[in-house]
Amino acid sequence: MHYIKNKTVKKLVQKYREILMLDEINSLLHWDLDVNLPEYAVSGRAEQCACLTKLTARLWQDKELRMLLDSVSDDEEKLCLEERAIVRNLKWSSKYYTKVPEKTIIDFSKTSASALKAWQKAKQENNFKIFSPHLEKIVVLNKEIAGYLGFDNNPYDALLDLYEPGLTASFCKGLFDELRPFLVAFLRKIKDSKHYGKENLMHCGSCDYPIEKQKQLSEFVLLRMGYDFKAGRMDVSQHAFTIMLGQNDTRITNTYKTNDFSRSLMVGMHEGGHALYDQGIKKEYSNTPLRTGASFGIHESQSRFWETHVGRSPEFLEFIFPFLQAFYKEKLSNEVLDTVPTVFNRVRAGVIRTAADEVTYNLHIMLRFEIESGLINGAIKVQDLPELWREKMNDYLGVVPETDSDGVLQDVHWSHGYMGYFPSYAMGNLYAAQFASKMEENLDLKELIRHGEFSPIFHWLRENIHQHGGIYLPDELVKKVTGEKLNPKFFMDYIVGKYSKIYGLS
Ligand code: MG
Repeated sequence: MHYIKNKTVKKLVQKYREILMLDEINSLLHWDLDVNLPEYAVSGRAEQCACLTKLTARLWQDKELRMLLDSVSDDEEKLCLEERAIVRNLKWSSKYYTKVPEKTIIDFSKTSASALKAWQKAKQENNFKIFSPHLEKIVVLNKEIAGYLGFDNNPYDALLDLYEPGLTASFCKGLFDELRPFLVAFLRKIKDSKHYGKENLMHCGSCDYPIEKQKQLSEFVLLRMGYDFKAGRMDVSQHAFTIMLGQNDTRITNTYKTNDFSRSLMVGMHEGGHALYDQGIKKEYSNTPLRTGASFGIHESQSRFWETHVGRSPEFLEFIFPFLQAFYKEKLSNEVLDTVPTVFNRVRAGVIRTAADEVTYNLHIMLRFEIESGLINGAIKVQDLPELWREKMNDYLGVVPETDSDGVLQDVHWSHGYMGYFPSYAMGNLYAAQFASKMEENLDLKELIRHGEFSPIFHWLRENIHQHGGIYLPDELVKKVTGEKLNPKFFMDYIVGKYSKIYGLS
């Protein structure tokens, strides 16, 4: 860490290393919980994780660490770029533990633990009333936390900032006000086209795509993308995720369904995109607060880039189709390439966010943004949520969930206590399109993808985005890479270009 010259910053990084170690050990326990743990061992594991979280909180509250942090400012001119980013990131990461009283932190973790159980039951029994008292408490606690963290105009801003530094409700609103009418109108065009609603015969109830083959195909694509299996591995879990467990240890998981070959391939590429980011950060930033990406949203841009701009592109499908036919001879040998893009890019106005396509996905996010922001500002009451959810779904997507389980109860996030997380998913989609458009100025992206030549793409991302780790704030990084601040026009152009072709729109 030759770049750290300032004594205070040096000491801060030394202290941070201990916190990081505990975090990584905690992550390993979580990885094991999701991938390997026997059913009966869950509650014991939860206690182990809670114990480590408590120790981590104490290290953040350490007097010397706080004194050191208070004594240095992140805009001091005598600090170099890396040193300033280290101080800024430490101040950002520590504020939850230092500004929010321990009592509230403990209250929050207890409330969310019991809320998770209540949510599972409520969802299973399609009964919002089981969850609503817990959600009431979560809203109150989040309001309190926002108060402790501090904000200028809107308490929701303090929560958004926990996931996407600097993001505000008014910025989101401006963005979504521009996107929403476009998406609603474009969805209507697709719905009116003759290809909408065609059945997908490649994913039928009795289709059998062996899991071993699906896994091999994901590994083949991951290797071509540049994922380093010597610094990671791919396992199976119910919900796929990527996790950084230490130096040279970034693992991914995948999920498999025997009647659907496309899902595991796209999940593999999505998580692979996250993993390439982590694996590509400058080695000299390991063990420092620079060793993670710029934000949740920027991280999601990397996964969405590989999944949607590469994986679901007609050019990639042209490349992968002969492999698909060779792997799944019995089912696919008589299929023709023309039918494949709609299999991977089926647009549907559906009720479930996690099953949503690129055109409708951000509409699901906007609905959650409006509801969360209303809850935190007191304009919306928890008891009114099921009805409000149905109204807004109808308004945005023209569909109404038949049950609350498929409506207001569908996401796990609130039961964990998270409010302010959802917008970072939408930001990821927008960042990805803006980065891709810039990349196209330097590379013949479509031709490279058509030939499965990912190496130039990998190097472009490494050079422009990955290597910087946590040096820049998300808006700084976007400006540095693309020359302008976040602009939703790139996403809209991308959607129109891609889906007009697939759905034969004029
Ligand atoms: Mg992701």
